[in-house]
Amino acid sequence: MRKFLSILCMLSFPALLLAQQPDEAVPIDFQAAGREALEHLKALIRLDTSNPPGNEAQVTAYLAGQLRQAGLEPQLFEPEPGRGSLVVRYKGTGEKRPLLIMSHIDVVPVVEKEWSVPPFAGVVKDGYLWGRGTLDDKSMAAAELQVMLLLARNRVRLSRDLIFLAEADEEAGGRLGIKWLLANHPDLLDVEMALNEGGRVVWKNGKMRYVAIQTTEKIYQDFEVIARGESGHSSVPTGGNPVALLIRALERIGSMKFPVELNPVTREFFTQLAPIFPRGLSLCASRLENPEEGAQCAELLSVNPNYNAMLRTTCTPTILKAGIKENVIPSEARANLNCRLLPGTDLDKFARQLRKVIDDDQVELRFAREPEPRPGPSPVDSPLFQTIRSVIEAMAPGVPVVPYMSAGGTDSQVLRKRGVLAYGLLPFPIQEEEIRTMHANNERIRVDSFIWGTELLYRIVVEAAK
Ligand SMILES: [Zn+2]
Repeated sequence: MRKFLSILCMLSFPALLLAQQPDEAVPIDFQAAGREALEHLKALIRLDTSNPPGNEAQVTAYLAGQLRQAGLEPQLFEPEPGRGSLVVRYKGTGEKRPLLIMSHIDVVPVVEKEWSVPPFAGVVKDGYLWGRGTLDDKSMAAAELQVMLLLARNRVRLSRDLIFLAEADEEAGGRLGIKWLLANHPDLLDVEMALNEGGRVVWKNGKMRYVAIQTTEKIYQDFEVIARGESGHSSVPTGGNPVALLIRALERIGSMKFPVELNPVTREFFTQLAPIFPRGLSLCASRLENPEEGAQCAELLSVNPNYNAMLRTTCTPTILKAGIKENVIPSEARANLNCRLLPGTDLDKFARQLRKVIDDDQVELRFAREPEPRPGPSPVDSPLFQTIRSVIEAMAPGVPVVPYMSAGGTDSQVLRKRGVLAYGLLPFPIQEEEIRTMHANNERIRVDSFIWGTELLYRIVVEAAK
């Protein structure tokens, strides 16, 4: 793009030259930009990238077309046919190290008949855009695209490069997305800091309540639970049916109550938000570590599934596999147990604890995937976190900005492991019941929220990279 501009400069007359002077104060019509971004989001929703199989290359082709029109030069990657990721760089002066804005462009599958609108039609109804990916995570992709387009069109001067990454395969662990890119093109993602999904702007009763910036996340760990026995004729049961053994083992795990434990991130989250919680909860949020009231308070807060998941480790079965025929007792029954552990948990010790609770030598419990070392949280005193805070204060005065540990996993972890300061920010104000549509039926985003969040993202990026 630089080259193109300099040729243009040489050929053109002074007025045009003036227009190319870097200007950070280009007035932007954020309503118009947001509406344009909304059209991009609709287009992305209409490209079905349910993973599996993914087919993210449809989305990278769309993004590449838009970016090229603005004079940018995206790089496209396809480690396997159809599994596309895209990286594009908007050049800064290079005084500071790059900032990465990223989003995943695959989505989880849908059960279409359970939706009240078609999930891949990009329908706007009742003030919402509906569809798979409207929150997780194509809204981020569309907003990030818009940020790149605005910067390129207005030739905004930045002191660091801004890199936009749209990645495949996040919902399946990132083997063909972030992990492939880091293994094969690490130079492209050599950045100082990153903005990704994972945070929340919480909206309730027509008001913005707080902004949660994800600085860490729980440990994702799957376990295989395998019950074994002897196969046989179901007309003469012998008592060692693996299906029954597996159910008993899962019941025992299900009845476990994991202890409440705060870490620096969740401690700050609950203490800072205590004043804005409803009465009752408000007192409790600041007394979680109080020896007398702590336990009772934790129970009260745990009624909210999201707070419950922040306060303790959780485990829940997600897949069952058993049986080959109605009248055959199978020799094996398997379950996948999905656990989200508090950071710092010793995984071997935890597995031993689960085995002890199952207490059955016909049932094996093992790691579905060997655990990897986990990085610590990104700091709250970094310039990027402070920038996020100050931009939010300017756009939404008085709304608290707090660090957040997400229960869900994101690709920020692999970046943190490499020393990148990564923050999760889903910049669109959303209500609790909308948050719950992620990975569920009727996923949707409020149109006004999307437009507001696109502006917030743009302002944060410019401020952090100026
Ligand atoms: Zn996601």
